[in-house]
Amino acid sequence: MHVITHDRRARADLSALLAAEREDRYGRLHDCWDTLDKQQQRLEGILNLAFRNSTYYANLAINTDFSLCGGRAVFNRLPLLTRSLYATNLADLKVAVPHLCYQDHTSGTSGAPIEVFRDSKSLFLESQRFADILQYYAADSECATLRPLTIIYVSHYQTSDEHIYADPVLGASVLKIRCDIGNVYDRAEKYGFFLQQHRYVLTGTVSSLLYLANTGSARLDLPTPALILPSGEALPPAVRGLLQGTLGAPVFELYTLRECGTLAFQCRCGKALHVQDDWFILEALDRNGHAVPDGVAGELVVTDLGNQHVPLLRYATGDFGSIHWGRCACGLHLSSLSELTGRRPVQFVAGNGDLIDTAHFAKALDRLPILWYRVTQYLTGDVGLEYRSLVQEPADGLIELCEELQCALGLDRPITARLVTIDEALLQGKTGGFFSEL
Ligand SMILES: [Zn+2]
Repeated sequence: MHVITHDRRARADLSALLAAEREDRYGRLHDCWDTLDKQQQRLEGILNLAFRNSTYYANLAINTDFSLCGGRAVFNRLPLLTRSLYATNLADLKVAVPHLCYQDHTSGTSGAPIEVFRDSKSLFLESQRFADILQYYAADSECATLRPLTIIYVSHYQTSDEHIYADPVLGASVLKIRCDIGNVYDRAEKYGFFLQQHRYVLTGTVSSLLYLANTGSARLDLPTPALILPSGEALPPAVRGLLQGTLGAPVFELYTLRECGTLAFQCRCGKALHVQDDWFILEALDRNGHAVPDGVAGELVVTDLGNQHVPLLRYATGDFGSIHWGRCACGLHLSSLSELTGRRPVQFVAGNGDLIDTAHFAKALDRLPILWYRVTQYLTGDVGLEYRSLVQEPADGLIELCEELQCALGLDRPITARLVTIDEALLQGKTGGFFSEL
């Protein structure tokens, strides 16, 4: 366990900016023009900074004849920053900044782990945004306005460290703790945190929260949290239901990347996630890099308007989803993200050579009480399903679904289904979904 201390100088330097955000940002999220105005101002700021101070972008401007005079049109023509380009050019991407920097790495569940750098300003602004998210959920829960607030981040990965951070902007203690060692309640108490009913927020990856919900010894004596905020992996309805039913609190999904923090948070009235458009530009693109129409699924590409240390302009996340604009029933007027998944949509090959879209079958599987699944089409053309359901017997509807897929593919042999243990499923994390070896 180590203690992370905040950057006092940055806090002092940024106090006016943070106070302004605290004052008017929450209201801004209800007015799309106000939000888009901020987005545009910040985009101009980060483009200026990147092209003037980042060697990578300065070289890009020279080699591709970009000029900042083009404004938004320039932005839309910027080549995507892929994960491999990011990893290769990290030293050139970096810009010297006045405040402390934080270094981390991605988990590696969707490719090799990459180094991540953010400065104190970016982290403090992230805390302010998190405070706004809690304020938003407070309308439907007992949390958020409670003080002192404790955030418990659980992890069941053996490689995870534990830390304590007193967040001065959020006004909360953040405790990252292992949930696979003893029980969370005692472990938190050991570090001086006495968890009480509805007085803390529980967060972590979907797999870690599922581990906690499914392991009686880990959640022994654990009081009901005020909120549960899973992120980092797909959240099937069955998992959402299990978390809510076992841990006893409302569940709201976050879309979070280690590289830039929480991009979007679930609507409190529905399943879509609201994008924090004043600090991020989220695009959905087709295979050719063109924007897809509103509501159509595409690869998600993000621009972080807050991280000045490593400007992320049009960063290809490797995630997929659809985006649409409009005022929501909850009152927010932001873009909304739906059908979020960490995998490119996959097509299977039928016996006659036709390509079969698996999205229909993915939706059907999501409606079953299944916690995790992987459907693979092998080189032979045969298909195998591995899954973990909430019940020991094959879930009702699973056999019919396999038969429907077999029929759609025109396969002679049936689809093999294998029930995996909960431990196997929890170790898989992001590796669920549809895969083709063809
Ligand atoms: Zn909403």
